[in-house]
Amino acid sequence: MQNDQKIVILGAGESGVGAAILAKKQGLDVLVSDNRNVSEKYRQILLKHQIEFEENGHQLHRILQATEVIKSPGIPENIPIIKAIREKKIPIISEIEFASRYTNAKLISITGSNGKTTTTLLLYHILKNGGLNVGLAGNIGQSFAWQVAENQFDVYVLEISSFQLDGMVKFRANIAIITNITPDHLDRYENNFAFYTASKLRILQNQQPEDAIIYCADDPVLNRELSNRKCVAQLIPFTLKTNPLKNGAFIKENKIIIKYHKTQVSMTLEQLALQGKHNTYNSMAAGVASKLMYIRNETLKLSLSDFHNIAHRLEYVSSVHGISFINDSKATNVNATWYALEYVDRPTVWIAGGVDKGNDYSGLLDLVKEKVKAIVCLGLDNRAIHAAFGDIVPYIVDTESAEEAVAEAYQIASKGDIVLLSPACASFDLFENYEARGNQFKKAVNKL
Ligand code: ADP
Repeated sequence: MQNDQKIVILGAGESGVGAAILAKKQGLDVLVSDNRNVSEKYRQILLKHQIEFEENGHQLHRILQATEVIKSPGIPENIPIIKAIREKKIPIISEIEFASRYTNAKLISITGSNGKTTTTLLLYHILKNGGLNVGLAGNIGQSFAWQVAENQFDVYVLEISSFQLDGMVKFRANIAIITNITPDHLDRYENNFAFYTASKLRILQNQQPEDAIIYCADDPVLNRELSNRKCVAQLIPFTLKTNPLKNGAFIKENKIIIKYHKTQVSMTLEQLALQGKHNTYNSMAAGVASKLMYIRNETLKLSLSDFHNIAHRLEYVSSVHGISFINDSKATNVNATWYALEYVDRPTVWIAGGVDKGNDYSGLLDLVKEKVKAIVCLGLDNRAIHAAFGDIVPYIVDTESAEEAVAEAYQIASKGDIVLLSPACASFDLFENYEARGNQFKKAVNKL
């Protein structure tokens, strides 16, 4: 009986408030509980919908009365409240799992270590241009649950993080896109890459034979994992190799070819709006998914070429006295930075550092040797960067603000060089988040 359900929602942020609105609409008993202050925006929304909430702490006895708990993805597993809920064997799910129960829309779910947001926004752009009634949700914009409560979309493009996947049980991805799997967030997975990988692959659970898995065939971890398990859905690879696939995307004579069911789209790499190898992968992933959604070739080509890149991802800022400044503040792990360093084609002053999540920098050594003339560290503790690159980069300097970092980089760089902010680390030692880091970087550049 639905009405006997007592839903407790932990975290009064975008996902929690969205889940609460949907739960209320379904006539369920709902309590939102946050151990911090609820922001004014969400307080007003909760009040308007007459949803009960508590803040600055949890009443344990009430929370333990729940029949189901919806946990915001930001809340870690190892805190006492979560342990107490687990001990009582109360199911804990994510907002995405909850929302998926109340929609019949087709769900295209995008996960991976890097490239989720870019691929999600690109695919949404294509599907919208193709005239589909499509929603955009997940880790991005308005929460999925909220949209399920208030809209009637036929299709959703969902950006799904591993934290959300941890709380997904019956959710079914009609189309799953896995961009890549490389080490990230290991602090949340007991420093165990296998646990993190397993979490990402939960995107495939509950898939049916008529569903699809679009994945990067050049990724060794993905290749190994997918061949080790029985995937019921159709596997559709994309690759930067010249490997003529029956269904999928590949390169042929400097063109990307996207093929599905005997139809084919081909475009030169220069025609793609998103440049860089990593972005070619993202265009391929979104392109293949679009073919599965019956988007016309002309619409697909146009949309892949007129998409506007999003801020903080290899974003060109400006050129000052012939020095180009690039903001890649969203590169919060080593793999993302690898693609940034791979992309730059001129001598580079590299701004790096921040909160190191246990980084292994060895994979960057060759690119750094080849392209980086100096490193400007932007972080409170830069020992790992000095240790990794001290022997191969002639000049490494420490800074503690974006303004100072830009000033140093500008001093060191010569006409024709690139100054690249691509930290390979989280931003929380000096900044509120990666956006603040990128914005302060851009502001400092624009002041030069
Ligand atoms: P996510 O949402 O997974 O964090 P974004 O699209 O926001 O991914 O990009 C994050 C960072 O990773 C940026 O620095 C971007 O340039 C880089 N990146 C984007 N796509 C890829 C990819 N396919 N492989 C590796 N790095 C990528």
